[in-house]
Amino acid sequence: MAEKSKVVSIPDKVTVKDLAALLEASPIEVMKLLISSGVMANINQTIDYDTAAIVATDLGFEIQQELPPAVEEAPAPSVPTIPEEVPLRDIYAQEAPEDLKPRPPVVTVMGHVNHGKTSVLDYIRHTNVVAGEAGGITQHIGAYQVERNGKKITFIDTPGHEAFTAMRARGAQVTDIAVLIIAADDGVMPQTNEAIDHARAANVPIVVAINKIDKASADPERVKKQLADLGLTVEEWGGNTIAVPVSAKLGTGVDTLLEMILLVAEMSDLRANPDRGAMGTVIEAELDKSRGSTATLLVQNGTLRVSDRIVIGEIHGRIRAMFNEAGKRIKTAAPSTPAVVLGLSDVPQAGETFKVVSDEKSARALAAERAEQRRAQEQRPVRALSLDDIYAQMQAGTIKELNIILKSDVQGGLEPVANSLEKLGDEDLRVRIIHQGTGNITESDVSLAIASQAIVVGFNVQAGPAARSMAETEGVQIRHYQVIYKLIEDIDKALKGLLEPVYEEVVMGHAEVRATFRISKLGKVAGVYVEDGTVKRNAQARLLRDNEEVYDGTITSLKRFTEDVPEVSAGLECGIGLGNFHDFEEGDILEVYTKERVG
Ligand code: GDP
Repeated sequence: MAEKSKVVSIPDKVTVKDLAALLEASPIEVMKLLISSGVMANINQTIDYDTAAIVATDLGFEIQQELPPAVEEAPAPSVPTIPEEVPLRDIYAQEAPEDLKPRPPVVTVMGHVNHGKTSVLDYIRHTNVVAGEAGGITQHIGAYQVERNGKKITFIDTPGHEAFTAMRARGAQVTDIAVLIIAADDGVMPQTNEAIDHARAANVPIVVAINKIDKASADPERVKKQLADLGLTVEEWGGNTIAVPVSAKLGTGVDTLLEMILLVAEMSDLRANPDRGAMGTVIEAELDKSRGSTATLLVQNGTLRVSDRIVIGEIHGRIRAMFNEAGKRIKTAAPSTPAVVLGLSDVPQAGETFKVVSDEKSARALAAERAEQRRAQEQRPVRALSLDDIYAQMQAGTIKELNIILKSDVQGGLEPVANSLEKLGDEDLRVRIIHQGTGNITESDVSLAIASQAIVVGFNVQAGPAARSMAETEGVQIRHYQVIYKLIEDIDKALKGLLEPVYEEVVMGHAEVRATFRISKLGKVAGVYVEDGTVKRNAQARLLRDNEEVYDGTITSLKRFTEDVPEVSAGLECGIGLGNFHDFEEGDILEVYTKERVG
């Protein structure tokens, strides 16, 4: 490079994105250089000075290290049970094997509407509940435990894959086993398919309950055939899916179902360490008129105790009292136990994780740190994956699969699209269709996309308003297509890093030049009348004279009388400066527009 080397000062720690900005390079370029020095970092990851310095040198910079602040305040020594960054599902892996003790499985019931999810949950609760003994009335607290042959099972009391995936989308992983209810008279239905895909996307084993076998129209054999077609071949047909015929109405087979759940639990070897400060997930929470904030917590590791200090998101508190589902006071809650707790400063959200901390200071510090993280997160425009991040993420080694949720108007449209998509990519990055279905894009699809870092592809379908707004806030990309080849081509390009962002021009309004003024500082500006829409400062505008474009530039100044204003609406007059353009004439039309990213 002939250019004289530039000097850059690099802080002690810097994100890839910020480093790219400092070095006037693209984040992808920086990630590539990082990879070549053996560092896999995504765009929002922080790297240290030494690593950043290597990249800067590679790009021809001379480096100065930014001095750390003079007095570094030592953070209060907190005694977190497990480091904050570790996701709940990985906590068991952090424990010494000898500390891990068997724990009850946590089960979620899923299936098509009216196939009997609530009936199965109710039957099990009423006949087997542990806490119900001594005449206690079980309350709905969001989860309950039953005992079978001296072994416990925890059921999540809100059935359905929507609730299951909504929790996952918030980062919670509570379910160990999914019980899929299929009515024997109705067979596999659309939501049965969805439930299977949602459970599979979460890597949760499925136990099938073929329900309503008391009905004359029940046809369990047909259900088994349908299951085989979905890759869930039952044991008696040589597969390894456990399917139990049951009747929630009569109670037939429910005991066997519980035994099978325990069998799968045993095969999964579910364990936790009961001997530490607890952590787990909020199952539900509400503001009780007399008791204040109440929350049902599911303990996932450690043991929760009355008077523990806990932090949930940005909320902290000290547990004043704990109850089981029979409303009985309890002093401790071991792994997989749900407990209603009192004493929180505010009402947490279902799906948030909680954790016990050693003292009030750490509780406050952690809550404040979380609030800070949330603010930082909110400032980031996009959190989920978008099609054009894919190449960069693949280069950075953060993804190996492009997860796609595919929705189409007709069943016939799905297969060819799915087949072609799955052929794309190579061994470094391939397409995985985690769910495909017919009909419009729903909130459940978007929630699955968040939970699985997927993008949603719609072929001849729309996204409902709720799904669209959820996708927008969470940064999930929904792409619509009408032609198969265009869809395949786009995904192919994304995998190869060739996807160009697509911008579309959106006209915001028109203004007519009514007078021109000379202003010493700005040169010539136009006095205009806004005819329609709005005119905004920093928007693009093209100047049309007799319908011919004379100039295209940015609106650099916008004034009402002498005031600078950000925008002016139709029916008002204002003064406009257009960059270095000074040759306005009366009667010129300004067409104001922005470019919006559409792909
Ligand atoms: P969910 O929408 O999946 O929660 O289904 P529900 O539990 O509300 O059940 C839907 C309907 O099926 C209700 O009218 C139940 O009484 C009925 N039902 C559920 N299980 C059985 C069963 O085993 N046998 C019969 N005959 N009816 C059942």
